[in-house]
Order: sequence, then C-alpha cells, then structure tokens
Amino acid sequence: MERSEMDLESWLIWSGRPTESGEPLNTPPVLASNFRLPGDRYYTRTEGTPTQNAFESLMGGLEGGRSLAFSSGMAAVACVFHALPVGSVLAIPEDPYHAVNGLAVEGEEQGRWTVRRLDLADTAAWTAAAMECDLLWLESPANPLMTVADLPAICSAPRRDGCVVAVDSTFATPVVQRPLEYGADIVMQSATKFIAGHSDLLAGVLTVTDDELFDDLYHRRIRNGGTIGAMEAFLATRGARTLGLRMERSMANAMVLAERLEAHPQIARVRYPGLPSHDTHAHAASFMDGYGAMMSFDVTGSGERASAFVETARLINNATSLGGIESTMERRALIPGQETMPATLIRFSVGCEHVDDIWADLDAALAATANVD
Ligand SMILES: *Cc1c(COP(=O)(O)O)cnc(C)c1O
Repeated sequence: MERSEMDLESWLIWSGRPTESGEPLNTPPVLASNFRLPGDRYYTRTEGTPTQNAFESLMGGLEGGRSLAFSSGMAAVACVFHALPVGSVLAIPEDPYHAVNGLAVEGEEQGRWTVRRLDLADTAAWTAAAMECDLLWLESPANPLMTVADLPAICSAPRRDGCVVAVDSTFATPVVQRPLEYGADIVMQSATKFIAGHSDLLAGVLTVTDDELFDDLYHRRIRNGGTIGAMEAFLATRGARTLGLRMERSMANAMVLAERLEAHPQIARVRYPGLPSHDTHAHAASFMDGYGAMMSFDVTGSGERASAFVETARLINNATSLGGIESTMERRALIPGQETMPATLIRFSVGCEHVDDIWADLDAALAATANVD
C-alpha cells in the first residue's frame, strides 16, 4: 500500500514490513556488512541492509519524501553542511542546537563559509535571507527556548537560485509538522529522540523531495561513512511504530503540565508553544498539529535551587536528551555549550507516564526545595 492510502498513524504501523506469504511480520535485523554477488546489494555502507531500508521507507512516507538514515542526528546535519560549496553563506538560528552551532563556527573559522544568525521569530529576516544565502538552516521548535518559526511562510518564500532550505524538526516529529509539505528541501530528524522514543540508540534521518539532492546526499553518506547500523534501524523502526500513540499521550500531558506550572507560585516562567502566553504561540497555532512534548520553565530562586529541584524529583529522570517514553529534565545551563542559558531554566521532555504522577513529582520537588537559595 502507499502512504496516500492511509493516515500517518496507520503508516507508522503498516510500513516497512515484508509482504510475501511466509515472510516474518517484521523486517528482522539483518546483520551483514556485505552480500553475495552478483545481486542488488553489494556493501552495507552503500545500499544498506533490508532493515535499514525498512526504516528509511517508513520515514520517507512520514515526511513526504525519500529518506536517508544516519548513525546519529549530527552525522545527518554534517552531511548537509559539508555539501555546501566553499564560500557559501549560511543562515542559522541565533541559538541553534549546540553541536550544530559548533559545526557552523568550525567551518566559519576554516574559511569554508560565513554564518548569519537570525531570530527564528523574525519571519522577514529569514525570507530576506532566502534571497541572499545558500543554506537556511531552521530549527523549530528550537532548543531550549521553544521558539517556533513560521515555517510555511519561510519555506515557501522566493529564494535565490541554489538556496537550500533545511529544517531540524526533531522537537516536533512528523506527527506535528511536515516541513517538506510547506516547501522545505530537507527535513532532519534526530531519530535518537521521539522517533525511536526509548533512549536506547543514536540515529539521524534526512528526508528530501528532489532526486538530484537525494543522490548527492546519498553519495556523500557513502564517502562520510555515516550509514545507520542495522540494530539501530531495527530498534528505531520498532520504536516508531508507537510514535503516534506516544505523541498523543505526551502532548496531552505537556499541555496540562504547562498550564499547571504556569499557575504555580514557584515557577517564574513557562515556555511551551501551546500556551497563549508563549511569544510564538501564534506561529505554532497556525500550522502545527499539536504543540509537541518539549517545554522549558524557570523555577523561582537561584541556579542552586534549580539544581536541587531536578535532583529531588523522583519519577522524572534528571538526564539530558529528550523524546523518550520516560520524562526527563535537566538544568540546561550545566550542559557544556549552554552556559549562557538562564541559570534557573529547566528543559523538560514530557513522557507518557500518568499526568497526575508527573505533576505530583514536580509539585513535591518544588515544595521540598522552596527554601534552597
Ligand atoms: C539531539 C538533537 C540533534 C543531534 O542529534 P544526535 O542524534 O544527538 O546526533 C540535533 N538537533 C536537535 C534539535 C536535537 O535535539
């Protein structure tokens, strides 16, 4: 069956399976570096195994293009950046995902490209940049301040010849937004996060609509060696089966928790795109299917109080990364490269536990640390 014959949630469950009688229901983890010749497959770094191909076809159907899976989100990002001719001009968010920032800074120092930093909320700045830059690298919602770019307006704006528009859509997942539908050329997922959803692997995916761009990125992946591993592809496919269910639950939890946190006297600020108080709520409401399961909030008091708070919580894990079935939170300013974040800012990845248990944990940790200064 084709993606057009069913809803995205059914595609997640149906796609990437063998279809001949007698075959297993799931594409098994094919652990092979090479294949008997002659045949369609030669070597796993080039063609992948059936396991990797199953994950890629699932992802392609979700995003609305053709997918290439990588060994991590950053392997996918680096593949895009390193495709740029020397002397290119890049537009990136003022505060992109920190490893993306590192990649941009390193290339600029090496004289490979120049970097412009734009406010994700400033649609006019991005549409103007589309006439002047070779790559627009958007990230929306952005880490960790949750700014939402007006993706349909930016991705469909007129561009100068050769300008590539790419969107890091990790925080949203294809359940919430599909940038290729708005006119982006490339969508990137760190499948490490919500796609795989169980905090047990690293993977990245690029999805594109243009065949020439696909071929270029495919050949770059052969040279860079960033092909996803077969076990990772197997687990990511298995995890993605429940992406629709997980997002439904964790987004519903996130909305309730954001409202309760916002009303709590010991919370100074909540940043969640679903809250009317959020600075880019209007962008989010205009095109996203839901508001995702990521938020950040500031506790009242000092950075020490914020540390005590995340360490006191018992159900919510004090851990970096995000997008697992389990809730995690961390004090963002303690992460290398994130020292400029507000000292009291907590990034919160809302999981699928019962909402009342998550709330009880937050409320108890706030009460227990109210006197820490
Ligand atoms: C995690 C993440 C990445 C990098 O992905 P890895 O799988 O860790 O390499 C890029 N962008 C965003 C928004 C992320 O959350």
